[in-house]
Amino acid sequence: MAADDTDRSTPSPLSIALASVLERARPKTSGAVASYIPELALEDPDQLGIALASVRGTVHEAGDSDAEFTIQSVSKPFVFALALEQSGLAEVTRHVGLEPSGEPFNAISLDEHTGRPLNPMINAGAIVTSSLVRGDRADEKFSVISAGLSAFAGRSLDVDEAVFASEQATGDRNRALAYLARSAGTLASTAEVATTAYFRQCSLTVTARDLAIMAATLANGGVNPITRERVVSEDVARWTTAVMTSCGMYDASGEWLVRVGLPAKSGVGGGIAALQPEQFGIGTFSPRLDARGNSVRGVAVLEELSERHGLHMLEHREAPLSPIDEISVGGASSDEVAGDEVVAMLRGDLNFGNVEEVLTRLMPLLESEGRLVLDFGAVTRVGAPAVRLLLWAADAAGPAPDGLPRVELRDPDGVLDVDLAG
Ligand code: GLU
Repeated sequence: MAADDTDRSTPSPLSIALASVLERARPKTSGAVASYIPELALEDPDQLGIALASVRGTVHEAGDSDAEFTIQSVSKPFVFALALEQSGLAEVTRHVGLEPSGEPFNAISLDEHTGRPLNPMINAGAIVTSSLVRGDRADEKFSVISAGLSAFAGRSLDVDEAVFASEQATGDRNRALAYLARSAGTLASTAEVATTAYFRQCSLTVTARDLAIMAATLANGGVNPITRERVVSEDVARWTTAVMTSCGMYDASGEWLVRVGLPAKSGVGGGIAALQPEQFGIGTFSPRLDARGNSVRGVAVLEELSERHGLHMLEHREAPLSPIDEISVGGASSDEVAGDEVVAMLRGDLNFGNVEEVLTRLMPLLESEGRLVLDFGAVTRVGAPAVRLLLWAADAAGPAPDGLPRVELRDPDGVLDVDLAG
C-alpha cells in the first residue's frame, strides 16, 4: 500500500464522523447481495465500510474500509477515463454516447441511427469502452486497464479469479451486447476480446479505501493525491466526472443527483465511488443492493453525509467575500504619474465571477487621464481563463498619456504566471 499521511492509531475527527454515519445506516438490512453472478452471492452481506480521501492526500476511514470486493461497474468511469486519455473525446464518442439511458445496467442500448450505446456507464457502453483500450488481445487490453486502475488507486490491484470465472460462465447477455455493438460498427475489437477484458476489469478487487482514492484522483484533476502521479489530464477528469454525474447510479441517477448531489458510480459488488470536485473522494462498501443495483447502505450513508455536511455539488453558498479588499484613490502613491491613480488590493481565489466583479466595479473608476493598479499581492490563485480575461481587459484599456499602461496588473508573487496555452 502506498505511503500516505494517515495515522491510523488515533481516529481522526473525520473518521469518527464517518463511523457515526455508518452506525445510523447499519440497521438497514433490506436488499439482497447480487446473485446473477453466482460467486458474488457468497459475499458476507453485513460488511459495511467507508473511506474519504482528501485531495491533499489524507485518508479517513471507518468500518470495513479494508475489506476487499470486486469493483464491478465502478470500473466503468475509470476505464472510460483511460480510453479518453488514449484517444480523446471525439474518437471515444464516435463509439459511445454521453446520454443518460434511464434504463437498467444490462439494457440493450444502441442508438438506432448511430449504433452507439447511450453512455459508457451501462454495460453496452462499458464493453465498447473496454474495446477501445489499446491492444489487440484481451490480455493486452486488460494489462492497460489493470495498470491504469492501479494508478488511480495508488496500489497494484489484483483479479478475483473465482469471480472472473463466474462472470465468464454467466456472461452471455454481455456477449450479446458486444455482438450487437460489433454488428452496429461501434465495437473496436471482436466481441470475445472486448468481453474478456471487461469481465476481468469487473473482477478486479478493491477496498472502500481504494475507491476513495480513485475518486479523489478525479476530484484532484487527474492527479492521485497520495502518490502524486498524474493518471489522466484535467480535461479527462472533468469529462469523466460529468458522465458520472448524469449516468453513474444506473436508472436512479436523476434521483441521486437531486438527493445526494455528488458525481458517483456504483457497482453490483456493493461499492460506490463518489466525489466532490476539488475536495475529496469517498468510497463505500456494503453488498446488499436495491432493485436498481445500488448498495442500500452505501446510498443511505452518502445521503446522510451529504445532508449533514452540506456536500451537494449545487449547494448554495453564502455570497462569497468580495475579491476587492481595499481601494485607495490618488495620493497613495509616490509615483510621478499623470492624473489620479486608483490602487485596488485584491484577495483570495479569483474565478470568473470574481474577475467579473473586479472589472465591473473598478474599470469605471479609471479617469480619462488616470491609471488603475490591480494589486495581486493577497491573491491566492487565479485560473488561466481568469488571467486571460484580466490580460485582455488591461490590454484593451491601452496606455496612459505618459506611456505607462492605464491598467497595471501588479503581481509581486507571480500568481498570474500560469500556463495560458491550454
Ligand atoms: N460484471 C457485471 C456485469 O456486467 C457488472 C455489473 C455492474 O456492476 O453493474 O454484469
